[in-house]
Amino acid sequence: MKDNFERFDMTAPPMRTKWYLRPLTYLLSAPEVKKHKCIITKTGTEGLKPPFVLLCNHNAFMDFKVATKAIFPWRANYVVAIDGFIGREKLLRDVGCICKRKFTNDTTLIRQLVRTVKNGDVAVIYPEARYSLCGTTAVLPASLGKLCKLLGVPVVTLICHGHHVNSPFWNLHDRGVKPTEAEFSLLYSADDIKSAALDEINRNIALAFQYDDFAWQKERGIRITYKGRAEGLHKVLYQCPACKTEYKMSSEGTILKCNACGKEWNMTELGELEAAKGETEFSHIPDWYEWERSNVRAEVLTGTYSTGELPVRVDSLPNAKRFIPLGTGTMIHDMNGFRVRVTDKDGDVHEMVKTVPSMYSCHIEYEYLGKHGDCVDLNTLTDTWYTYPDPEKCEFAVTKMALATEELYYALRPSER
Ligand SMILES: [Zn+2]
Repeated sequence: MKDNFERFDMTAPPMRTKWYLRPLTYLLSAPEVKKHKCIITKTGTEGLKPPFVLLCNHNAFMDFKVATKAIFPWRANYVVAIDGFIGREKLLRDVGCICKRKFTNDTTLIRQLVRTVKNGDVAVIYPEARYSLCGTTAVLPASLGKLCKLLGVPVVTLICHGHHVNSPFWNLHDRGVKPTEAEFSLLYSADDIKSAALDEINRNIALAFQYDDFAWQKERGIRITYKGRAEGLHKVLYQCPACKTEYKMSSEGTILKCNACGKEWNMTELGELEAAKGETEFSHIPDWYEWERSNVRAEVLTGTYSTGELPVRVDSLPNAKRFIPLGTGTMIHDMNGFRVRVTDKDGDVHEMVKTVPSMYSCHIEYEYLGKHGDCVDLNTLTDTWYTYPDPEKCEFAVTKMALATEELYYALRPSER
């Protein structure tokens, strides 16, 4: 198969939102923001006017809607990953979205954001670059402080609470959580950002981004009565804390279960876990997740981390029209990073190698679009590979690969953690 696919034009300048779309984007966002009775608290942003940078946390599509409400009627450009553009490139460009391939170093994007700021608009960035897996902060790029300094405009954060527990990445069903909350806060004025040191900017952004949706839910006493509330949780919690076995977890209704030792946990209406019998190892879901991370880190530090060779298929996204089935082959993720090799229908071999220093984090999907299965999203500047290990032929957890990507990177560059 000759690769002569049309490529997404990443260099097109950002569009200023068409005047007639501005009220429309607001109206499209309003019903959901209203349904969840979102309370937006403003700190230091009362007299604020664009241009400014808006850094938002990322848990669900509702994040965009709350951001639209928070900044209305100002114009904004939103940085969005290419998969968000599929089949609606023109609309997304018209409402001001800028496309990026996830976890690539993209100088074009910086030029586009400079343009946004020069236009006098709001540059909306989701620096976690992927949905949070369990409602806590995902890693932030070390380049973020530098970007803010370069843009030289006020830095504002929008931290939403309740979006993960309302519609978690691992089971999107809307649980009707209300009221949700959002903090719209000035972090740096234009003058302050110019004089601040890079380390300090990164540290303050990281501090502003500390959030924990399950802790928030418990503090607020918000009950979720949805009967299927634990379904999908085994995608994140893939390792049993009782017998330590990986990849044997399952979930149904409100129950999370290890199929190796049979231990079960019930997920309460307040989002906590309780062992059906014996000790509750982790009642707080993010603690279980961090325990898994510590186990992955130990494998990385002893140099033993490897998924082994996994049979995979790859769907490629050269442009935003649709995925193109590229072929089948193998993927391995180990101490050297990712290596994927697939053969297409004409017998041609395609390879993607992502070294450890080339990726500080990794975007994954669970049951992509409800039917395609779990995958790892690997990117170059001109292509995106959704790589699906075959669950019929191997055992794996894409969550572990995402954790390992971060632990491998930070083992190499501890100062960036
Ligand atoms: Zn077990």
